[in-house]
Amino acid sequence: MTLVLDHTLPQVAEGAGSSAAPAKPTLAGMSRARLSEALAVAGVSEKQLRMRTTQLWRWLYITGATSFDEMTDVSKALRTELEARYTLDRPEIVTEQVSVDGTRKWLLRLPRRGHEARAPEIETVYIPEADRGTLCISSQVGCTLTCSFCHTGTQRLVRNLEASEIVGQILLARDRIGDWPGAKRPDDGGLLPDTERKITNVVLMGMGEPLYNFDNVREAMEVASDGEGLSLSKRRITLSTSGVVPEIARWGELSGTMLAISLHAVRDDLRDELVPINKKYPIKELLEACRTYPGVSNAKRITFEYVMLKGVNDSPADAKELVRLLAGIPAKINLIPFNPWPGSRYECSDWETIERFADIVNKAGYASPVRTPRGRDILAACGQLKSESVRLRARERAQPTVDATEPGA
Ligand code: SAH
Ligand code: SF4
Repeated sequence: MTLVLDHTLPQVAEGAGSSAAPAKPTLAGMSRARLSEALAVAGVSEKQLRMRTTQLWRWLYITGATSFDEMTDVSKALRTELEARYTLDRPEIVTEQVSVDGTRKWLLRLPRRGHEARAPEIETVYIPEADRGTLCISSQVGCTLTCSFCHTGTQRLVRNLEASEIVGQILLARDRIGDWPGAKRPDDGGLLPDTERKITNVVLMGMGEPLYNFDNVREAMEVASDGEGLSLSKRRITLSTSGVVPEIARWGELSGTMLAISLHAVRDDLRDELVPINKKYPIKELLEACRTYPGVSNAKRITFEYVMLKGVNDSPADAKELVRLLAGIPAKINLIPFNPWPGSRYECSDWETIERFADIVNKAGYASPVRTPRGRDILAACGQLKSESVRLRARERAQPTVDATEPGA
């Protein structure tokens, strides 16, 4: 499954960011290598480094410790030393919203860097379903690309997220929904068994172009998929890209995750307009990179995302061309109802048009490709939560304009 978020407001909310960067770095979200370095700085001897790293790693990623006091097998002296130098902080929650359907959305504030005027903010969304729970995470604050239907595309890139800030979104979500082993079930207060994990899937479909933050996203996904820690299967991690062709094969080789492509158009002239990176890497090259994506097979299909824009890309001819283009590529198709934002020049296709389009795609063998909205009551798409927070600060009315959506398949 994949999930889409869109971003309808500036990535830096008004009034945010009076706080300076924290004096102490957090260990939460660090890779093994970085943890070892941090422990060495705290005075752990070379001889003990491996053992101490493993201890810390388990507390962080198996138990979900949020305080050094919990780390009972770590000596008091070392705990005090660690406490003096580091924190176990997750990204700071600005707002959290919970839908009646269980969808949750967080607006998170990251530490401000020296040169940043304000603390950057990102969004993360959790969508529970009967057979899985998907967490949609951000990889950048803003985006360098300028897709014409995406509000993030109208914002400048504020910065790349660090690996620990990407992992931090998973830790925070697990904290908030009680998804650590031994955590209490919210409904009956019983203990949550290991086998009942709530976050089973992670999608890199929040803010930003993950392949333009390649190294940090890769490091983060290594932490997330480590079998002795967070243990998310790489087959349940999906990276969505607008089509950074030269990085696609490298990502597949180095990461082994699933891939989603923001296709959105079947002709180069239109895709040049909707997803301008197409001018650099046109559809033919993009699809070639998909055909040869490492590990691609019928069991490991590539998801093609297609946003439904009224009168722009939604004709039956477009649907037929989509099916023709994808022939021979092990593919899933997700039709995404367009989420409008103030000032956007597009409208969402009519429901009948979407159904007609879906019908053609269905008949070609792709099951239930339309994403259905979730979390409407909390307006659970990234941009919406943010618009609320800006509205409150700016004391002005914002128009609710977006929905969180999920695929039908
Ligand atoms: N930058 C990456 C991942 C983040 S965007 C990418 O472009 O793939 C995640 C998905 O949301 C993409 O498919 C993107 O095209 C889609 N999207 C962005 N704005 C949208 C909007 N207003 N309505 C519907 N989908 C949108
Ligand atoms: Fe939006 Fe993704 Fe395009 Fe960036 S690459 S502008 S996040 S759709």
